[in-house]
Amino acid sequence: MQDKCGIVGAYSNNKTGEIAKQIYYALYSLQHRGQESAGISTFNGGKMSTHKGMGLVCDVFSNGNFAGLTGNKGIGHVRYSTTGKSLIENSQPFISEFKSGYVSIAHNGDIINSMELRKQLESEGRIFYSTTDSEVICHLLIKEYSENGDMVKAMQNISKQLIGSYSLVILINDDLIVVRDPMGIKPLSLGKTDDITMVASESVAFDVIGAKKVRDVEPGEILLINDEIKSYSMPGKGNTPRSHCMFEYVYFARPDSILDGHDVYDVRLDIGRALYQEHGVDADVVMPVPDSAITAAIGYSRESGLPYGEGLIKNRYVGRTFIMPSQDDRETSVKLKMNPIKSELEGKRIVLVDDSVVRGTTSKALVNVLRKAGAKEIHLRVGCPPIISPCYYGIAMATKKELIASDKRVKEIEKILGVDSLGYLSIDSLIKCIGIEKDHLCTGCLTGEYPTDLPGDIKEYEAYRC
Ligand code: SF4
Repeated sequence: MQDKCGIVGAYSNNKTGEIAKQIYYALYSLQHRGQESAGISTFNGGKMSTHKGMGLVCDVFSNGNFAGLTGNKGIGHVRYSTTGKSLIENSQPFISEFKSGYVSIAHNGDIINSMELRKQLESEGRIFYSTTDSEVICHLLIKEYSENGDMVKAMQNISKQLIGSYSLVILINDDLIVVRDPMGIKPLSLGKTDDITMVASESVAFDVIGAKKVRDVEPGEILLINDEIKSYSMPGKGNTPRSHCMFEYVYFARPDSILDGHDVYDVRLDIGRALYQEHGVDADVVMPVPDSAITAAIGYSRESGLPYGEGLIKNRYVGRTFIMPSQDDRETSVKLKMNPIKSELEGKRIVLVDDSVVRGTTSKALVNVLRKAGAKEIHLRVGCPPIISPCYYGIAMATKKELIASDKRVKEIEKILGVDSLGYLSIDSLIKCIGIEKDHLCTGCLTGEYPTDLPGDIKEYEAYRC
């Protein structure tokens, strides 16, 4: 499965306290990272309890579902799968009972070699109940832990076998273990209130419970959290360069988050400014494709002096799971999500700012909607440079041949989308806007150069992920 997910782990020093509610609030703040399933596991000193289900956080935990979730430590997960297997068996946290107790895991990322690891584990007689990477990690951990009885050591050992991206929160009996892969591909932050320690995919999760961000979890770091926080390193930590995902800044993270010391809102404002510097055009108004391109459009407007306007209104109640009228009826499905404001568009020359163009089908339908509403000229400006190659680290975009920029030049794409002009931000400018040096960013989907080895047989791998 290819997942983009959000994870939370929390530990309260108040031994009689209940942590489930704080995890619930934090998951609510991370809802943008996954809307297909949600779940929480807690441990109360004797018993591990888990509640998970399909749907939004508020649906899964409606009607007092906290009742069974007792204890002062726990983990949570929101999941977004994009390849069809949206099944309860694949929802997280993933729980397992073994001879020394219970383990529950929540994972954000993608283990590239999970197919081989799974085959190996199956050949040893281990049985799988899901198709997730988390279950692979769970089996590896239990195997190592059963041999040496030390969870940190077990994690250090299995890290040598894992290739790919993984931010993990693991609840094993009384301990909360937090792990970030050696390249730090997925974000993970550490926050605190007076008596709660929390880790979360994004710092916005802390704001809601009144916690302060302390720092980012370091790439290659393992934290053992109970009454105190102990930090350990994976073998070879620091030998591998960091490789933070650029797409978190461009699109995925919330603009009010701070990732690896960089304010996402500021990055997106700078992307808008840089788009004007690279692709300025004479126009009447700057408009975003809501919501993810709003900040970049504000940046473009400020830099250009052109007024900022809203030409499209997003229906925020259309979830990912709504029933498409039909695969062909793109325009209707786009209009269900985005409706034009004719009075803002009629006779106008528009700069339309979008965060990214992946397949191009949605952009094309949007352009159609804007034309029909009377836009005179449409100049599309895209904050993410052309995506030419798939992501193997947990952001499911499309296969290479589905990516519009994989084999087409900008002029051809401009024609296909039906815009008057098209301008993508350059890779160099994007790196400058993010403010992290080039060698410490993953730009694999933009360049085809990835920070890890890729699966030997991509086709077999893609079939396995589906
Ligand atoms: S390949 Fe692209 S989307 Fe995937 S982790 Fe790298 S930068 Fe992010």
